[in-house]
Amino acid sequence: MSFSKIDKHTIQRNDQRFRELLTALPNVSVQGYDKNRRVIYWNRASEFLYGYSESEAMGELLEDLIIPNEMRALVIDAHNDWIKEGVVIPATELELVNKFKQPVSVYSSHVMLYQHTDQPEMFCVDVDMSGQKNTEKALAYLTQFDRQTGVYNKQTLFEQAKAQVLDSINRDQDSAALFIGIDDLTHINNVYGYKAGDLLILEVVNRIRAIAEECDIVARYSGDVFVVLITGSNLNERIEDFCSQWQKSSSVAYSINGEKREVTTSVGVYVNKGTTESHIQIIKNAEIAMNQAKLEGKNKCLYYQRSYQNSLNRFHALLTALKTAVTNNEFSLVYQPQYNMQRKLVSCEALLRWHSEELGFVSPAEFIPVAENKNKMDMIDRWVLRAVVDQIKQWKQANKSIVPVFINLSGQSLNNPDFIDDIVSYIKGSGVPFSAIGIEITEYALVNDSDSLIGILKWLQNQGVKIALDDFGTGFSSLSYLTKFPLDYIKVDKSFIMAAPDSDQNATVTKVIFALSDSLSIQVVCEGVEEEKHFSFISAHCNHSLLQGYLLSRPIDAQSFTALLTS
Ligand code: C2E
Ligand code: MG
Ligand code: MG
Repeated sequence: MSFSKIDKHTIQRNDQRFRELLTALPNVSVQGYDKNRRVIYWNRASEFLYGYSESEAMGELLEDLIIPNEMRALVIDAHNDWIKEGVVIPATELELVNKFKQPVSVYSSHVMLYQHTDQPEMFCVDVDMSGQKNTEKALAYLTQFDRQTGVYNKQTLFEQAKAQVLDSINRDQDSAALFIGIDDLTHINNVYGYKAGDLLILEVVNRIRAIAEECDIVARYSGDVFVVLITGSNLNERIEDFCSQWQKSSSVAYSINGEKREVTTSVGVYVNKGTTESHIQIIKNAEIAMNQAKLEGKNKCLYYQRSYQNSLNRFHALLTALKTAVTNNEFSLVYQPQYNMQRKLVSCEALLRWHSEELGFVSPAEFIPVAENKNKMDMIDRWVLRAVVDQIKQWKQANKSIVPVFINLSGQSLNNPDFIDDIVSYIKGSGVPFSAIGIEITEYALVNDSDSLIGILKWLQNQGVKIALDDFGTGFSSLSYLTKFPLDYIKVDKSFIMAAPDSDQNATVTKVIFALSDSLSIQVVCEGVEEEKHFSFISAHCNHSLLQGYLLSRPIDAQSFTALLTS
């Protein structure tokens, strides 16, 4: 046997083994191409990866089978360069296509056999990367989008805003940011549960998307806040249009747990004229405008103004200081007597005073709305209730004849069953009779006129707690509340009483409220009796009203009030 013969035989056997090995490789697609890129080899893994059977693929052109159109010329050139000039095609990640024209991600390596002959053969070895690519895509999705709603997340919002601002500078256009915050999502979560809250968020996003144009960027900024970035020409008109469409769309009731409910939003807008602000400042200014809209009672749309920054600073200073008000012992109570027409003391209203170490004296008219805005009333209302109960207990121990003390309760606390449980057990534990306590609620607390709230109020009333509707006339002045809720008193707001003697219109409204209370057998309490003329007006039109106001007494501290109680 000659050496050359053994060698040829060995080569043939090796070649055979090599091909068997390639055929058996399960996850590695190997394809061979002749010098014209026609398929001469197609293993089983290639059939799986690219969808062509071996018989379908054999003899076909590489570029007709698995090369996307845009890569065709590139592949043909690279193959020719390799054959003619020896320029190797490097191994790389590629996105090819399968028989069904779907993308296939592969890591592709290439070898040229018989390179210096007239029959060069190129073998491509492709490893399927789809799994990895899908993971990468999923990861990219997770890092770029909000999983719950499918819109951009906060990080992407900033990236997109940066690009958008640069783009609008280049095009000499303006850009704008709109903040849309759901009012009182916490309340919805508390009343209907988190699942209902999540569905509401989705519906809000859907409504925003329905109005936004394709080129606008919609993102979730935080749990209940969404941002729309708008750019282009006629920006002012577009924004006005967006806002009016949003007003219409958001005023349609939402379906929450099968119930139709109105859900309002607060909107803040900032329009960046030309190149004045960075993308961060644009977003910040729109947020400031939205927060101002919330501060001003929610359910409105405001365009950014420089002064908003000051009111927000004050808001945050109050909020921060409020957090430590209880532990720093900064709260106290004053009591404002309530008299009958014979000027006999019949009850009083406990009013909160806050002397903040940092901010000095702050009026409840200023800090109560801040606490309400951030759902912090629970802490305040608990403190007040306990302080009042403790005070009554002291009066009892000192054998004073006690009169009912009315406390102001926020809607947030009233709608929270835990709060009610806690205060009921505190009152019970103190030995103070329920009849020594009255609660003042505003119409806002009753908006959510649920059966459970009516049930709670009825229960408290049956225990002896007096219930007063505060500030009547300033809210919705809904007559249905007067019949639906168990009320012992209607407090006519001081603005009516103070204006009634000098204004026919106010006098008429006040007289209507008097007549209404009479017909419903609900006792009237007039607030803001500052001067004799107020007293005269009341005695002329409602001579069994109770009176509260500076004419009779300002709110006084506990010690002074104790002196008014007989032993
Ligand atoms: P409100 O419940 O309607 O309380 C009556 C307010 O009118 C009190 O102001 C009282 O000082 C004031 N006032 C009484 N008589 C007169 C008068 O003759 N003339 C004038 N101009 N004002 C009079 P205050 O204490 O500043 O409280 C303002 C509001 O803050 C309260 O209105 C109430 O809504 C809220 N608030 C006060 N204390 C508490 C509290 O302990 N808890 C809660 N949740 N809210 C409170
Ligand atoms: Mg009150
Ligand atoms: Mg009032």
